[in-house]
Amino acid sequence: MYNKKFVVVGGGTAGWLTALVVQKMVKNSFVTLVESDDIGILGAGEGTVPYLISILSYLNIPIMDVLYESDGSIKLGIEFSNWNGDNTSYFHPFGNPKTQNSNFEKGIYFNFIKNDIPVQNYSLQYKLFLNNKSNFILDSNTKEFISKGGYALHFNARKLAKFLREIAEKRGIKRIEGIVEKINNNETDNVDNIILKGGTKIEGDFFFDCSGFNRLITGKHYNSEWISYKDVLPLDTALPFFISHNNKNIKPVTEAIAMKYGWVWKIPVKDRYGCGYVFDSSYIDNDDAKKELEEYFQVPIESPKTFKFNAGCYKNIWIKNTLAIGLSSGFIEPLEATSIWINCLNLFSFLHNNLHEIDDDEIREKYNHVCFKRNDIVKEFIHLHYFGERSDSVFWINFQNKHSPSNYLRQKIHFSKKIGLTWDNDIFENSDLHIASKLFPTESWLMVMDGLKMIDKKPYDFLQNEFLVKNEIFHEEFVFQRELIEKCISNDDFCRFVWKIDQ
Ligand SMILES: Cc1cc2nc3c(=O)[nH]c(=O)nc-3n(C[C@H](O)[C@H](O)[C@H](O)COP(=O)(O)OP(=O)(O)OC[C@H]3O[C@@H](n4cnc5c(N)ncnc54)[C@H](O)[C@@H]3O)c2cc1C
Repeated sequence: MYNKKFVVVGGGTAGWLTALVVQKMVKNSFVTLVESDDIGILGAGEGTVPYLISILSYLNIPIMDVLYESDGSIKLGIEFSNWNGDNTSYFHPFGNPKTQNSNFEKGIYFNFIKNDIPVQNYSLQYKLFLNNKSNFILDSNTKEFISKGGYALHFNARKLAKFLREIAEKRGIKRIEGIVEKINNNETDNVDNIILKGGTKIEGDFFFDCSGFNRLITGKHYNSEWISYKDVLPLDTALPFFISHNNKNIKPVTEAIAMKYGWVWKIPVKDRYGCGYVFDSSYIDNDDAKKELEEYFQVPIESPKTFKFNAGCYKNIWIKNTLAIGLSSGFIEPLEATSIWINCLNLFSFLHNNLHEIDDDEIREKYNHVCFKRNDIVKEFIHLHYFGERSDSVFWINFQNKHSPSNYLRQKIHFSKKIGLTWDNDIFENSDLHIASKLFPTESWLMVMDGLKMIDKKPYDFLQNEFLVKNEIFHEEFVFQRELIEKCISNDDFCRFVWKIDQ
């Protein structure tokens, strides 16, 4: 017997993940998903962060199946190329297998900075990447691959949505094909039903708006207040394109390549790199962007369409008996592939607390504030990436003056320059961003700041050596990493294995 009827509007990554999670988490729920083949899905959004691995595991969806069905590959971090304008790159890795002692970690980083060594050199993922290795080893007993350390996935978004749909339908989620034309409220202003083109009426107790950029419920129906991030993140156009490859020399990373007026993502999946130039259209148009891409990649660029977007999010995503998940809740440029992650965090915190059962303005306000702050910290972190030394175009020359940092980010940068990483201790804990300050660990800020040459080593000259890590601990850690790297299978072999390609 079903107690509660949930309706999900939209069948992109956000919609199918929402439907599957709701069905699994809410007792006696019946989930219906409405989507339109005529409208289709966005199809972009092919990079993730490690949180997706936990969600797939929660949903009992094997990673190997996801990789096969979605032409996916593994992601150990992001390689940022040419963000200082000197053709060098830096790396933002995911996690470490040995993080049990935070003083130990900090000591290592202090030591690296003091000795002018890039902090990324400590990361296992970075070393795997340099050796073109995956983070998987073959278990000799079970003959199965097991993962080591933090990682995430790349995938073909259309294939992933199709795969999630197959699983969802097998698990009893009902899919209805059709275009939502009307949304009707009841006398308390909750959504009562939606009407499809042709007149079909779908009733529900709770509605998830996963309608992508159409933003049917939160935006068009309830007209929620939009918070724009355009003042700090002006990029407003994405020009997606593919570059084919022969399934060899696949890097286990997303590449984020700084260009003259923005940046390009380059994501390896089977047979192709999914790429896109995200740029500021106040400087260049689509033709200029294509020209720059062709010069850079030395291949003809075909792009069927571009996406226009405004960086920002809705202030309230939970309104009455509806919640926006996915692009319908907002969008910040995909530089750190945060969208699916943040939306799933919002979804889980909603469901964990049974908020669909609650009609209380104070709780609603608190929840919406926390979700908004999550977006806010993402905005700060993404903004940080633009404070490197690149200055070869009017876009880069103007950027830092035209889009100056918030007080929070300004202080973070300023403190790093003056007192090193000690800003991590307690100074910021009472700031307004405290709610979300744990979203990106210190290591993430550190990797980007170090990559952008923002961290001053002077403060560490005064640290006594015993505060730094003893040599034998260093040694033990590096031996551990070296042995692990040796055991890991090469990324090419791993891709061939998951894609079932013969040698
Ligand atoms: C250029 C770009 C790059 C991105 N890169 C990343 C990334 O690397 N990592 C990441 O995490 N996120 C990324 N994102 C965000 C990512 O696309 C989303 O997080 C998510 O994967 C897909 O969005 P969605 O499911 O919300 O919307 P969509 O995929 O657009 O799905 C919307 C659904 O709503 C349905 N729909 C809309 N209107 C109606 C209607 N009237 N009636 C019925 N159905 C309707 C559509 O048919 C579709 O099924 C990127 C976004 C863009 C624009």
